[in-house]
Amino acid sequence: MKSLRNICLAAPLFFLLPLHTSTSPASEDQPSTRQYNAHACVGCVVVVSVIEQLAQVHNSTVQAAMERLCTYLPEKLLLKTTCSLVVHIFGPDVIKLLRADMNADMVCHTLEFCKQDPGQPLCHLYPLPKAWKFTLEKARQIMKKSLTLKYSRSGSDICSLPFLAKICQQIKSAIENSVPFKDVDSDKYSVFPTLRGYHWRGRDCNDSNRLAYPGRRPDNWDIHQDSNCNGIWGIDPKDGIPYEKKFCEGSQPRGIILLGDSAGAHFHISPEWITASQMSLKSFFSLPTALTDELNWPQLSGATGFLDSSSGIKENSIYLRLRKRNHCNHRDYQNISRNGASSQNLKRFIGSLSRNQLLDYPAIVIYAMIGNDVCKGKIDPVSEMTTPDKLYSKVMETLKYLNSHLPNGSHVILYGFPDGTFLWDNLHNRYYPLGQLNKDVTYANFYSFLSCLQISPCQSWMTSNKTLRTLTTERAAQLSNTLKNIATSKKFTNFDLFYLDFAYQEITEEWQERGGQPWQLIETVDGFHPNEVALLLLADRFWKKVQLQWPHVLGKENPFNPRIEQVFGDQGGH
Ligand code: CA
Repeated sequence: MKSLRNICLAAPLFFLLPLHTSTSPASEDQPSTRQYNAHACVGCVVVVSVIEQLAQVHNSTVQAAMERLCTYLPEKLLLKTTCSLVVHIFGPDVIKLLRADMNADMVCHTLEFCKQDPGQPLCHLYPLPKAWKFTLEKARQIMKKSLTLKYSRSGSDICSLPFLAKICQQIKSAIENSVPFKDVDSDKYSVFPTLRGYHWRGRDCNDSNRLAYPGRRPDNWDIHQDSNCNGIWGIDPKDGIPYEKKFCEGSQPRGIILLGDSAGAHFHISPEWITASQMSLKSFFSLPTALTDELNWPQLSGATGFLDSSSGIKENSIYLRLRKRNHCNHRDYQNISRNGASSQNLKRFIGSLSRNQLLDYPAIVIYAMIGNDVCKGKIDPVSEMTTPDKLYSKVMETLKYLNSHLPNGSHVILYGFPDGTFLWDNLHNRYYPLGQLNKDVTYANFYSFLSCLQISPCQSWMTSNKTLRTLTTERAAQLSNTLKNIATSKKFTNFDLFYLDFAYQEITEEWQERGGQPWQLIETVDGFHPNEVALLLLADRFWKKVQLQWPHVLGKENPFNPRIEQVFGDQGGH
C-alpha cells in the first residue's frame, strides 16, 4: 500500500469497488500495479462523476457537492473523515478542472489517475470531446502547480504526510481485513456478522466451546447445552426425553455448503452509491458492512441467505427451504465463496470448509464456479480460458478432497456454466447509472472502459465483439459438458454426485411471465453478476429440480416442526 493512488483506493468507497470485482486468475495472489492503477482510474472517474452530477442535481457549486458527498458517508471505517481529507487535498484541483468544463475522464487524465500508455488507446467512460488532446494540454497548464500532481509524479507516499499517517494506518488495516483469499481462522464459526462471520456460516452459539458449532451431531442429545447451535436442547419435563432426541432423531438433518465465486457470495454494489439523483443520508448506511464482507451479501444470497429479501419476491434461499423442511437444520449453512474463484483456484480456500466426518451431519454441497473459468479480463481472453482437460483434473481433485472431508451420506451437485451472451444482449444499449442523468453513458461504453483498462470482470462476454462472445459461450458449453460427464461417470464413497444446468434462460422466461424484463436480473452497477432476484429464482429452480429428480437429497419433512416452534420459538435467530 503505497503511493498517492492508494490513499484513494482507501478513500471513498468507490476505489475499493473495482478491486473486488476483479476476477483475477489463479496465478495472481494480489492485484498487480497495473491493476491498482486501473482501479484508481475507475475510482477517480466514478467519484468525479458523482461530484459533478451532485452539483448538477442540486444546482450547487462543486465545492458544495463534495461536502454533500462527505456528509452522506457514515463515520464507520473512517469513511466520512477520509472523504473530508480527500476533499481537502484534491478538492481545489477538481474544482478548477470542472470549472474549465472538463468531464470526469479529462479530470482524471489531467490528474494522472488515468494514464494513456504509449501505443495504447485512451481509456474513457464518456464520449471523447472533440479536440481532447488540446483540452488535456490546456488543463495540464492550469494544473502546473497542483499538489495532487506533485505527489502523483514524485511517486511519494501521501501517507507520509504527518496528519495522514495515523488515518492511513487505520484504513490499511480496514482494507487488509477485506482482502479476498485471506486466511481464515481455524475457529471458523463466529458471533460477528462480517469478516467471514455469521453472514457466511451459521452463527456460533457458544464461543467458549470449540466443540459446539452448527452442523454437528448433538453431544449427549444436547441435554445440558446446545452443542449444534440449532436452538434445540434440554429435556422435556413431561416425559424426561431430551428435545433433540424427540424432535430430531431420524429426521435426517443436513447442512448446505456452497463452493462458489462472487455470484454465489452475492456480490453487489448498491446503485445508490453512484447515482447522484438518488443519493441521500440513508444511501451509504450499508456500506461499512458491505466493505467488511468484500462487497458480498451472502446473508441475502440464493444458496445460504437467511435474511428476508429486500427485492420483494417471495422465493427463499436454499438454506431457508432446508430449514423450513426440517427445523433441526437451523443455522447449518456455509458459504465458502470468494470473489474471483474458479475451478483452478478453489484449492486455495476449500480448506475453510468445515465438516467433521465423524462428528457432523451430512451436507449438500453445491459446486458453482459459474464464470471465472471463461471470464478473462486480459488482452487475449480465449487463450487464458480453462480447458476441459484442466477443468476435469481440478474438479476431480476437489471431489477427492470432499470425499475425504464430508460425512457419509452427503450429496454433491455440480452446477454448469451459463451462456453469458445475455449480458451484452440485454444491457449494451441501456444507460449505465452514471449515464442516466445526461444520457451519455451506456453499458457498452462502460464495458469498453473496463476492457480498455484490462480490468473487466468478463471481457470475453462483456464485449461488442460478437465472435469473442460466441467463442466464450462455446467454451462454457464444453466445460458444462465436462462437469456433466464427471457427474454421470464417477462414484465416491461418501457422497452421491449430480449435475444441474445453469438455468438462466429458464429464470429469464419465468421473470418475463411475471411481467419483468431480462435486464432486471443483472446487477445494475457491475453489469455482470446475477442480482438478488436472479439468485432467488435460481434457488427456486434448484429446489424444484432436485425435489423432482433426487428428492432424497433434500431429506424428509420433519413432522415436529410445529412443536419445535412452540417450544423454542425462533430457535435463537440467525
Ligand atoms: Ca441442539
